Amino acid sequence: MVSAPFRSYVLVSREQIARNYRNVRSVVGPHVEVACVVKADAYGHGAIEVSRVLVAEGAKWLAVSSVDEGVNLRRGGIHQTRILVMGGFLPYEGDALVDYDLTPAVHSLDQMRQLDRLADASGRAIRYHLKIDSGMGRLGTRASAGEILSTLAQTRRAQLEGLMTHFASATDYTSTQTDDQLAYFHSICEALRGAGVDADRLHTSSTNAIGYGRTEGWHTMVRAGHALYGYVSPARGDAPAQLLDVKPALTWRAKLLAVKDLPEGALVGYGGTFRTLRPMRIGIVGAGYADGIFHRLSNRGKVIADGKLSAILGTISMDLTTVDLSHTAALGPGDEITLLGAEGDARLDAQQIARTAGTISYNILCSISARVRRVYV
Ligand SMILES: *Cc1c(COP(=O)(O)O)cnc(C)c1O
Repeated sequence: MVSAPFRSYVLVSREQIARNYRNVRSVVGPHVEVACVVKADAYGHGAIEVSRVLVAEGAKWLAVSSVDEGVNLRRGGIHQTRILVMGGFLPYEGDALVDYDLTPAVHSLDQMRQLDRLADASGRAIRYHLKIDSGMGRLGTRASAGEILSTLAQTRRAQLEGLMTHFASATDYTSTQTDDQLAYFHSICEALRGAGVDADRLHTSSTNAIGYGRTEGWHTMVRAGHALYGYVSPARGDAPAQLLDVKPALTWRAKLLAVKDLPEGALVGYGGTFRTLRPMRIGIVGAGYADGIFHRLSNRGKVIADGKLSAILGTISMDLTTVDLSHTAALGPGDEITLLGAEGDARLDAQQIARTAGTISYNILCSISARVRRVYV
C-alpha cells in the first residue's frame, strides 16, 4: 500500500473518480449531460485535482456552491468547462461572476432583474439557470409561470439557459414527494414553453435520482456529486434496483504515535470514559477531531488496524485517538491504521462511519479537515 510522510492523510484515486464519472455517464446515456458537483472541495477530495480528472474525462460542466468556489476553480486553471454556481450570488459577488465566467443558479425574480442590470453594465452576455422551488422549501423561486414570464419580458439582456429544481426525498419510496416535485416542475416548464420560452437545459436529478433510475427527472442534464466519490444513499421503502456501480475513491490513513500495554482496570482518555476489563494493548493514533474524526465516535467507532476492525477507546481528542490493538503485535510507532477505506478483508466506508456517528456519509467526507493532506494516486 502507498504510504505518505504525514500523520494523517487521504489517498484519492484519480482513476476511481474517473471510473465513477464514466459509470454515471453510461447510466444516463449520451443524450444527458453530467454536471459534476465539486462543491465543498469536491466533498473533501480536493476540487482542483478532481476537476482536472473530470475535465480530462471530457466533463463539460462543473457545479459548485458559491461564487468563491467557482473563482477558486478558475484560478486553479479550470477554464475548459462551464461552472454552475448552485448557491447563486449576492450583490457583492456580481463582478466576480462576470469576470470568471461563472453561471449562476438564480432563485428569485428579483435576482433575474439584478442579473439583467449586471449584463447591461458589463456589456457581457450572462446566462443563468432559474431554480424552481418545486416543494423542497429551500432555494428556488415559488413564483408562478405567469410571474416568471412577465419578469423574463422585462429582463432581455440576461439569458435564461436552464430551469432546475432539487429533490428533497429522492431515496424515499414511501413518499410521493419526488413525483409531486416533478409534476410541479413540469407544469412550470410546460407553461413557459407554451409561451415560447424553451430553456436549453432542464435538470433536477442528483446522485440518488440517477441511481434509483428516476428517469423522468433526468431531462437534458443531471447533477452528480456523491456518485463521483463512490456513494449512493440507501433507499427507504420499495426502491428499484440500483443502476450505479460506483466505489469510494478516498482512503484515510493515520500513523500510530505510540503503542503500549495497559493493565486491567486502567482508564483511557479525557474523562476516564473507558476502563480496561482485561490487560490490553492500545495504540495512540496521530489524528483526532481536528482532523475530522467525529467526537461522537468516542467509545463507539472503529478503525482498521492490521487488517481487522478495532475499537476506538475512550474519548476522541483534538489531535489523538486511542484504539484497541490487543489483536496484533505487528504494529508500532510510525505504522499506519485506516480510518476510512479497506485493508485486507476489512472495510470501513463513509456510510458505515456515518451510521455509528449518527450522521450521513456526505457529512463524514466533508468533515475531513484541511489539516489532513490530500495525496493523489
Ligand atoms: C449538492 C447538490 C447536488 C449534488 O448532490 P449529490 O447527492 O451529491 O449527487 C446537486 N444539486 C444541488 C442543488 C446540490 O446542492
